[in-house]
Amino acid sequence: MDGDPMLSDDSFYKKVLDNLYDGIYFVNEDRRITYWNRGASLLTGYSETEAMKKACSDLFMHIDAAGKTLCSDTCPIEETMRDGRKREIESYFHHKDGHLVPVCLRIAPIKDSNGQMVVAVEVSGDHSPRFALRQQLEQLQRLALCDPLTTLANRRYIEMSLNSRLEEMRRYGWHFGFLFMDIDHFKVINDTHGHEAGDRALKMVANTLVNSARTFDVVGRWGGEEFVAILANITSDQLAPIADRFRHLVEQSSFSLGDTELRVTVSVGATMSQPDDTAESIVQRADRLMYESKNTGRNCVSVA
Ligand code: GH3
Ligand code: MG
Ligand code: MG
Repeated sequence: MDGDPMLSDDSFYKKVLDNLYDGIYFVNEDRRITYWNRGASLLTGYSETEAMKKACSDLFMHIDAAGKTLCSDTCPIEETMRDGRKREIESYFHHKDGHLVPVCLRIAPIKDSNGQMVVAVEVSGDHSPRFALRQQLEQLQRLALCDPLTTLANRRYIEMSLNSRLEEMRRYGWHFGFLFMDIDHFKVINDTHGHEAGDRALKMVANTLVNSARTFDVVGRWGGEEFVAILANITSDQLAPIADRFRHLVEQSSFSLGDTELRVTVSVGATMSQPDDTAESIVQRADRLMYESKNTGRNCVSVA
């Protein structure tokens, strides 16, 4: 690697560090700042010129979660300088504008090119409680509304979407289509190839269905080997061709399991929303139509 112009050029590293969102600064043995990236400027409000050569406690006092200052007796940078160990601390610092910013500090000892000990400090601002709470809520929402096996919308999400679509239909007259799809003889797949193969087949069908839909349609797993699709803003003459495209694409999908190519088919019930529909009535109608498809030989579509 010696002689690589990219690696021997400090400005290359500087560019890399400057493009990180996290703040990074280096502190020498006198606890003076010797490097300051753009992320550090964005997080603290202090420019590189303002920060360089200063002691970090001159710029912004770090405060721990209990409100105790970290910059006098118990400066974690000094401790790392002394014992050569890495540290990670949740703390606050004073922004140039005065307010406190919650951050996570990661402090690591490194040797510079002259063998001198410097301490690298990484400041990430993403650890603010507000941010963490938002992330937690997003995750909870995903967990509550997403089917874990297929990552499709779960029954609860489908019911919520159906109610929104029905509300829109009553207000603006936008009709929508609804498909109920049940995998044919799925029990045989489980019994012949095992439950894991069954799970793979479910994921395959889920992916095929999602990829067959438009971005504003909702495809979900109703339960077991049953899937549904809400087809936003379509006319009744579009319903049968779309339903048959879904059916056909599932039939064409396959994955290999040892020497065998595993395929499944679906029986589909397809219906348009009616003015007096509820979420329950539209699902029931589509489910009844799906059973008609089972009775007429499976791997087909019945439309109301
Ligand atoms: P039909 O064509 O009449 O729909 O027959 P079928 O075998 O598909 O229907 P049945 O209701 O008898 O069987 C459904 C099977 O789906 C039984 C159940 O064990 C299986 N199943 C349900 N959920 C899962 C799952 O999450 N993973 C796997 N591997 N199998 C599942
Ligand atoms: Mg079923
Ligand atoms: Mg089935």
